[in-house]
Amino acid sequence: SPGLYIVATPIGNLGDITLRAVDTLKGVAAVACEDTRITGKLLHHLGIKQRLIRYDDHAGEHDRERLLALMEAEPVALVSDAGTPLISDPGYRLVRTARERGIAVTSLPGANAAVVGVTLSGLPNDRFLFAGFLPNKAKAREDTLASLAAVPATLVFYETAPRLGASLAAIEAVLPGREVAVARELTKKFEECRTGAPSEIAAHYEAHPPKGEIVLLIAPPGDEAKGEVDVDALLLAALAEAKAS
Ligand code: SAM
Repeated sequence: SPGLYIVATPIGNLGDITLRAVDTLKGVAAVACEDTRITGKLLHHLGIKQRLIRYDDHAGEHDRERLLALMEAEPVALVSDAGTPLISDPGYRLVRTARERGIAVTSLPGANAAVVGVTLSGLPNDRFLFAGFLPNKAKAREDTLASLAAVPATLVFYETAPRLGASLAAIEAVLPGREVAVARELTKKFEECRTGAPSEIAAHYEAHPPKGEIVLLIAPPGDEAKGEVDVDALLLAALAEAKAS
């Protein structure tokens, strides 16, 4: 039926597409995508012939209106180059406007680099905060990290290989003592995940310059850093209790 179908696609391994995604991509009237060449390749791999409509970060009001008009009459899929649309990818305005106009919107779950990074890193996952890309400029990057310093959750960022060194240095300066994880080339042949102190990880990647795509994670502040829990006092109290009983 007519409406907008948000469809997650793989982040590397082409096997990571769901059966529902394949059925939907086959069944819609058109597929809106960031880059027709990249999505064309994926659909070719899946044996699907489709009408592709470009919809990227530069899409203006006019492109959006055309797509909205189409999805009022027919089913339209939205995909991005990789992973889950809208997550550091285009689509927010389209979804917002579609909902405002009462167009049916549904979202088909699938690959997402941030979630793969969280599950793989071994860092606490009961709470995590996805914070997209850190700013490019040094001062803005440090300010962003400082603004997140007290958040009691694992912090998750998207990162690029050329900027990894600068980000690790900033973490070491602004969030001293916090463990980090670098999750690289997820779901691909050279997938790796390294955890440790930012200085250790930085030293490794200075010796072996990283390639490919990266999720950068920062462990939550420890109890020492929060200054709230006095572990010694808790232990002494527990000992006293054990002795008394
Ligand atoms: N929407 C996508 C998703 O759901 O993961 C993210 C798109 S964002 C423009 C691209 C960034 O996602 C990359 O710079 C990298 O930080 C991260 N990323 C995407 N694929 C990845 C992979 N296979 N391994 C590690 N990080 C990846």
